[in-house]
Amino acid sequence: MALSSFVAVIGGGPAGLLAAQRLAEAGHRVAVYEAQATVGRKFLVAGHGGFNLTNAEDTSAFESRYGHKQPEFSGFLRHFSPTDLRQWASSLGIDTFVGTSGRIFPLKVHKPADVLRAWVSRLHDLGVAVHTRHRWLGFAGTNGLHLRDDTTGRDFDLFPDATVLALGGASWSKTGSDGRWVAAFEQIGVQSVPFAPSNCGVEVAWSPFFQTKVGRAPLKNIALHCGTQRVRGELLLTEYGLEGTPVYALSACLRAALASSTSALLHLDLKPDLSDGQLVAKLQKLPSSRSLPDFLRQTLRLGPPVYTLLREVAPNELVATPEAFARLLRNVPLPVRALRPLDEAISSAGGVAWTELTEELMLHRRPGTFLAGEMLDWEAPTGGYLLQGCFSTGAWAAHGVIRWLS
Ligand SMILES: Cc1cc2nc3c(=O)[nH]c(=O)nc-3n(C[C@H](O)[C@H](O)[C@H](O)COP(=O)(O)OP(=O)(O)OC[C@H]3O[C@@H](n4cnc5c(N)ncnc54)[C@H](O)[C@@H]3O)c2cc1C
Repeated sequence: MALSSFVAVIGGGPAGLLAAQRLAEAGHRVAVYEAQATVGRKFLVAGHGGFNLTNAEDTSAFESRYGHKQPEFSGFLRHFSPTDLRQWASSLGIDTFVGTSGRIFPLKVHKPADVLRAWVSRLHDLGVAVHTRHRWLGFAGTNGLHLRDDTTGRDFDLFPDATVLALGGASWSKTGSDGRWVAAFEQIGVQSVPFAPSNCGVEVAWSPFFQTKVGRAPLKNIALHCGTQRVRGELLLTEYGLEGTPVYALSACLRAALASSTSALLHLDLKPDLSDGQLVAKLQKLPSSRSLPDFLRQTLRLGPPVYTLLREVAPNELVATPEAFARLLRNVPLPVRALRPLDEAISSAGGVAWTELTEELMLHRRPGTFLAGEMLDWEAPTGGYLLQGCFSTGAWAAHGVIRWLS
């Protein structure tokens, strides 16, 4: 191997930083160029929402989370698995634990900033140079990169022996993942699939009455359906629609439905732990003298927003038979008119098309340039699958670089 080759990593998110670490550990000289004033801004944002690093789910279920990209991700996850991710954290002094839902988190004593600080310190010890406020502007010549040092305003070209681009997706642009890099890829003829919101809230055309009366209200322990997909969890009713893990997990299904129609239908099961028979039996006890909101609250433990929700979406079915009412509580129709804007989404679908890449994540059009992380066209639900996907593709791209340089 040509030891001490110089590798440029553009983008200081988890995918880029892991690639940098693996390359430095393999003996290469590595420099990270990051447009923002600090690295790992979206990594820190992820930390505020629970910091779910990966998941303890069994391998085949885990791999299936990457949808039609499962075959590719099976390989990436074999190369850098959830166990590897936990060991990586542990090697930085960050212990992890498996939560009740199978999600894997750093122990509470480790704040997100502690994790990032320990990681940057390890990179420093490995000799990785980190240049912040350095924006990649595009490709230069056959293997060069055009950059701007935002501190001095100076533009310059760099000619590394190999490059890893890990520029992120296109949501939460204030963290630096602004998707502006697509134009530079277009200039050299590399196709990207347009970005779309993933793991996002949705819009429902609630009446003004509903918006005022309900505002924001959680619906705990529900199941949500989109077509044949069903997800359990907690839903949040908001003034504009719905938020929460179940709706995020169904964003790909909703996106597909909205692409073929002006609205898409979700179905809400308010009592997923009761059988149909148990639900009907409870509803048969509804005395005609009792108010329905009280009965829902006391007998079915369904709080006030539920009655308002049922009146909003199915006003004519409230005084039906117990059987029909049970069917409604199992299948409350929620017509979704749009996904929330891309910039609000937890992640983005779309990115560089897989046809542009070799198996090792190298651009066909630019030998020596490898890609990793959310800038590639894949999506996965929340639950640790996003960060794991970024770490695994980062490790795999670094592996590709090491082989390519040897
Ligand atoms: C609110 C929120 C909560 C989340 N929670 C979780 C969670 O709990 N678990 C989970 O698995 N995932 C979570 N995620 C998703 C996860 O944070 C992302 O999938 C992950 O950070 C993507 O990593 P990346 O390295 O591909 O890109 P990014 O982290 O987006 O990093 C890309 C970097 O490239 C830099 N960059 C972009 N363009 C240029 C350029 N031209 N020149 C130089 N640098 C550039 C950016 O500034 C950025 O620092 C969450 C995301 C959000 C927004």
